[in-house]
Amino acid sequence: MIVADRKPINEILWMVGDCKKILVLGCKGCVTVCNAGGMKEVGILASILKIARKKEGNPIEVEEKTLERQCDPEYVEQLRDTYKNYDAVVSMACGVGPQFLSAAYPDQKFFPAVNTTFFGGAVAHGIWSERCAGCGTCIIHYFDGMCPIARCSKSIQHGPCGGSSKGKCEIAPDVDCIWDMIVRKKTEQGRLDDLLMVRAAKDWRTSAHGGPRKSIREELTK
Ligand code: SF4
Ligand code: SF4
Repeated sequence: MIVADRKPINEILWMVGDCKKILVLGCKGCVTVCNAGGMKEVGILASILKIARKKEGNPIEVEEKTLERQCDPEYVEQLRDTYKNYDAVVSMACGVGPQFLSAAYPDQKFFPAVNTTFFGGAVAHGIWSERCAGCGTCIIHYFDGMCPIARCSKSIQHGPCGGSSKGKCEIAPDVDCIWDMIVRKKTEQGRLDDLLMVRAAKDWRTSAHGGPRKSIREELTK
C-alpha cells in the first residue's frame, strides 16, 4: 500500500491561511490502513485546526467527510454538489487524491494534509516499512524476494557497498543492510552463485526517471 504521514499542523495551518470554512476530506484506501488519513484522522485534524484557530482568535468552521477513494473519478464526483461550499478542501489522501480533486474541480483550492512517503507494509503495530520504489520492472526474483532498489540506501544491484557492517547499513545503525540479508539467505541455501549471473543493465525508463507513466490494460489496446 501507499504509506503517508500527516504533515505538521503548522504547515497545514499555513496552507489554510485565513479560510473561514474548510472541508477536511479523508480517504478509505491506503491512508486509512496506515492511520494517516482515514475517518479517525479526519476527525482529529478537524478538531486540532478548530482549536488552533480559536486560540488565535480567528475561528474556523471545519466539516468532515471521507470518500471511499480519492483516486477514482467515480468517488471524487460525490463532491460535485458541495465543493463550492468551502473556501478550501484539505485532502488527507496520498498525493494522488488532491490532484484528482483539482482536475475535477479547477475552481476550488485543494491542500495536501499528508506527506506521501513510500510503498510498503506493516512490520509491527503502528510501524510501516518501505518495500517497493515502483521502478516499473520488478527484479526481486533475482534476490529471493528482497528489493535492493527500495531497500538498499544506494539502490545497488550487484552486492553490498563497503559501508555494510554487522548486518546494518552505513546510513544508520537501525537500518538493515538488505544486501547482507540477500547474501545470507543465498549462502544458507547454497545458492550464492546466483549472484554471479550476468544480467542486462536495468532499464530505468519504466521508473519515474522515464517521465509520467501510464498503465493500460491489454483489452483497451486492441
Ligand atoms: S524491483 Fe522495482 S517493482 Fe520490484 S519491488 Fe523493487 S522497486 Fe518495486
Ligand atoms: S550498507 Fe547495505 S543497504 Fe546500505 S548502502 Fe551499502 S549495500 Fe546498501
